[in-house]
Amino acid sequence: MAVIELKNVKKIYGKGDAQVIALQDINFVANKGEVVLIMGPSGAGKSTFLTIAGSLQKPTSGEVIIDGDDIGNLSAKKSNALRLTKIGFVLQAYNLVPFLTVEEQFVLVDKVKKQNNLSKDELDKLLKQLGITKLLKKYPGELSGGQQQRAAIARALYANPEILLADEPTASLDTKNVEEVGQLFKDLAKKRNKAVMLVTRDPRLEKYADHIYEMMDGKMTQKK
Ligand code: ADP
Ligand code: MG
Repeated sequence: MAVIELKNVKKIYGKGDAQVIALQDINFVANKGEVVLIMGPSGAGKSTFLTIAGSLQKPTSGEVIIDGDDIGNLSAKKSNALRLTKIGFVLQAYNLVPFLTVEEQFVLVDKVKKQNNLSKDELDKLLKQLGITKLLKKYPGELSGGQQQRAAIARALYANPEILLADEPTASLDTKNVEEVGQLFKDLAKKRNKAVMLVTRDPRLEKYADHIYEMMDGKMTQKK
């Protein structure tokens, strides 16, 4: 089932001489139960694509449809609620709150989103799977890049979203951790029926993907 659909999406930053066409005429569908990779070099438009698909920013033209709702037609309040309940983000800048411990990051989620988060047992299992159980009392600044990344993934998954969007989620991970995280993304899609969209330049993730798209100069081509 299609959970995210982009129709003829275009994104232009700036005006006049400074204008950058970041996305041109993107048509894309993501389904539940599938892992989709969006690959391509730096500057190709991958992050722009992901933030528009997740309704963090609006396209210049075209439609973004999430679970059947055209988010261009929703009020700010409705689109915020939709993002909060349906979408989990793992962004490039790890987006952990610097003055909260890893454990407190989850408490924060509970405050913002009160329902349908993971149970204590499910969270314990997830932390174990990600190898960060021992880091609960630490602050983001005390963690390595890879540990921060895994904590950010755990926090996004804690809210139990239908859709998980991740921007370069394995950028600072060694191969063993990439395999763990890749398998985790695949399990989320296959066992929990989530739609997983990963923006990456990391070929080590290819084997976990159902579909692979290549992005180049704001254009998208399906490779698998
Ligand atoms: P990627 O994630 O593939 O590296 P981006 O989506 O970040 O690509 O960027 C695509 C293009 O849009 C690049 O040319 C970039 O410089 C430009 N761009 C991205 N964000 C902005 C912005 N906020 N303002 C102006 N230009 C931007
Ligand atoms: Mg990027």
